[in-house]
Amino acid sequence: MFLPITKDEALKRGWDELDVIFVTGDAYIDHPAFGVPLLARWLEFHGFRVGIIPQPDWKSREPFMVLGRPRLFFAVSAGAMDSMVSHYTPARKLRHDDAYTPGNRHGARPNRATIIYTSRLKEAYKDVPVVIGGIEASLRRFAHYDFWEDKVRRSIIFDAKADLLLYGMGERPILELAQRLREGEPFGEIRDIRGTAYAAKGTEACPGGVELPSYEELSSDRMKYAEAFRLLSGEQNPHCARVVLQRHGGRLLVCNPPAMPLVETEMDAVYALPFTKAPHPSYRDPIPAYEQIKTSLTTHRGCFGGCAFCAITHHQGRFIQSRSAASVQQEVRRLAEQKWFRGSISDVGGPTANMYGLCCGDASARAVCRRESCLYPRPCRHLVMNGRSAAELLRKVRGVSGVRHVAVASGVRYDLLAHQPDYLRELLSHHVGGLLKVAPEHAVDKVTALMRKPGRQAFVAFLEMFHRESARLEKRQHVVPYFISGHPGTTLADMVELALFLKRSGLRVEQVQDFTPTPGTLATCMYHTGLDPLTGAAVYVPRGDREKRLQKSLLLSHLPAERATIIQALRECGREDAAVELLGRSAAPANSAPRKRPGGR
Ligand code: SF4
Repeated sequence: MFLPITKDEALKRGWDELDVIFVTGDAYIDHPAFGVPLLARWLEFHGFRVGIIPQPDWKSREPFMVLGRPRLFFAVSAGAMDSMVSHYTPARKLRHDDAYTPGNRHGARPNRATIIYTSRLKEAYKDVPVVIGGIEASLRRFAHYDFWEDKVRRSIIFDAKADLLLYGMGERPILELAQRLREGEPFGEIRDIRGTAYAAKGTEACPGGVELPSYEELSSDRMKYAEAFRLLSGEQNPHCARVVLQRHGGRLLVCNPPAMPLVETEMDAVYALPFTKAPHPSYRDPIPAYEQIKTSLTTHRGCFGGCAFCAITHHQGRFIQSRSAASVQQEVRRLAEQKWFRGSISDVGGPTANMYGLCCGDASARAVCRRESCLYPRPCRHLVMNGRSAAELLRKVRGVSGVRHVAVASGVRYDLLAHQPDYLRELLSHHVGGLLKVAPEHAVDKVTALMRKPGRQAFVAFLEMFHRESARLEKRQHVVPYFISGHPGTTLADMVELALFLKRSGLRVEQVQDFTPTPGTLATCMYHTGLDPLTGAAVYVPRGDREKRLQKSLLLSHLPAERATIIQALRECGREDAAVELLGRSAAPANSAPRKRPGGR
């Protein structure tokens, strides 16, 4: 049975009043791949009466009142993505689709959904606490650079005027909050829950901790912005993080340490909740995000890679939280019972598929660890890297009756595969369908160093291993590499080097990701400040749409439509000598002198 989205549905469950009402920017898909349904089911399991208001029309307060006034609080999320990332391309152009909405329609949620939804709820029920969470609130919890306005914004808790902010994965904080409220503790006195942040008066007595430079300092001084990022990056480990404070004018943001990761039995309990695994029956049109995950399995969460451009570590945490193999098998068995199931599992993975079951092997080192990545600049000696659990899991999933084919579509860390012979063998033997997607992101070492990724040598070594293993298995298989253009530190000349490397390696890209400075990442800090905050070194930043367009084109030399742009890019960085190799003999340059621009450094 679905959780109620109308009063009638609530009454059918015998609920004339709800304890917690979620408001979300996504359609209601009752599946654990989506944060709001997952937390709603988690609270339901612990005895709370929960409802969901999905994608309300935000132009008036009435749609926010359809389930009435909750007894404890409203919980607001913009959805699975930051609403600005969801609405705009890296060139700040409006998108016309939305994979989390029936019919893939754009326009079902507002820009800055967390702020707008909270404001409507406060208009409707001034005295009911509003708790904000999800990736939008999580990554905007401190003063942060906003690419779409090209300025530093305040913590979202001040702009939304919310009563509490939940960051990271929410099972522990939301449950503790609901239970303490149920026991009668006043909302305003609950200030010590891990994984939460709140706004205090500047004069209020607050727990001691690390104080970041203020919002005002960050807004006017890029060095201070970089300093704040560096201080914050040392406070990500829940085992040793301290309270973090940041002044905003006369007010203070107080951010408690992150919630502790879930252990295996807790992960299993979450994934055993009674999800219907389907969109709410009121929807008529298909929802692309659901079609994509319908037959996929989330085996774990978290990522210890620490890639500079990625927000996953900042939201899900650096420690891997894995489900047991038995829990995953149970989910597969339930899937196999569905009438529509045809025997194919579309993915077995998480943020990084081959991190399943991996962990820090030294509890005392972990307790004080302040590294941003367990892999960069080189794998930590305490990291348990073997892929035996992941390989065993794949074998078990394949062995479930009714399953005919199992794919691994989640990304894999190719540098980890070198330490995971069992997993690599399973992967290449059964799970990649002839094409393995990996993300070296670049092949110029000074760029990969800024991305906190392994360099070219590691990628070349991986390619050799991949071809050797495929030959041994007598399979014709290929690598599909993913790259980013326009990342801080990348010049046009670097992109030419990358394009030549691809050509010489016989690789062709399917997609090029144009870098977007999303809230909260290391790369966004570099983009805004022109500094690597962790080393203090200056970083070249490609900014204009034009230069970004030229960078991107260099990876698409196989497309005739890109030819003129590529010739222009080569001319601008004085690399016309590469034209023939990239584009063929007909592209031999005329006798014009090359012009050099700053982007071609
Ligand atoms: S493996 Fe190393 S870097 Fe990772 S948490 Fe443990 S001590 Fe820290």
